[in-house]
Amino acid sequence: ALAFPAAVYMLQEQEAHAAQMEQTFIAIKPDGVQRGLISEIISRFERKGFKLVAIKVVVPSKEHAQKHYHDLKERPFFNGLCDFLSSGPVVAMVWEGEGVIKYGRKLIGATDPQKSEPGTIRGDLAVAIGGNVIHGSDGPETAKDEINLWFKPEELVSYTSNAEKWIYG
Ligand code: ADP
Repeated sequence: ALAFPAAVYMLQEQEAHAAQMEQTFIAIKPDGVQRGLISEIISRFERKGFKLVAIKVVVPSKEHAQKHYHDLKERPFFNGLCDFLSSGPVVAMVWEGEGVIKYGRKLIGATDPQKSEPGTIRGDLAVAIGGNVIHGSDGPETAKDEINLWFKPEELVSYTSNAEKWIYG
């Protein structure tokens, strides 16, 4: 089949597509879970065309929350933030797709829901910074670290969705 130019082209397309594949860590925080926003939030990532490769419901320990937010440990709200994250169930997920790290942040919106655009998750579903319903990794390094913190490698599933050829063209 590789003798046919179309097949070679398709293979190159697939390789290019594979090279741009990224994974990001997304968590629905305790407020989002308590407010019944799990399916609403998941559906926004799913409808966009991103692929869910890991998911679990966990109540993180305070130590786990402190590790997750270690970059913010000097901030005055750090302790309250870690208490909050460990106060109840969190839906921890890994989403995969081209550009998912950066675009995931766009879907989420600004940290302060008052500054989030309508159409974003925080813009549409949240009012206050202390109840901004969702976390998403802010870059490739953070994404790797956060996925490693929340998931064991065997908890991530690798699969091809039949929709991918329609999503990526
Ligand atoms: P993001 O979640 O958008 O990546 P940050 O990493 O700056 O934002 O902050 C992490 C989380 O800490 C925010 O989502 C929010 O829950 C909380 N937070 C940030 N800034 C404040 C603040 N000024 N007061 C209270 N909580 C804050």
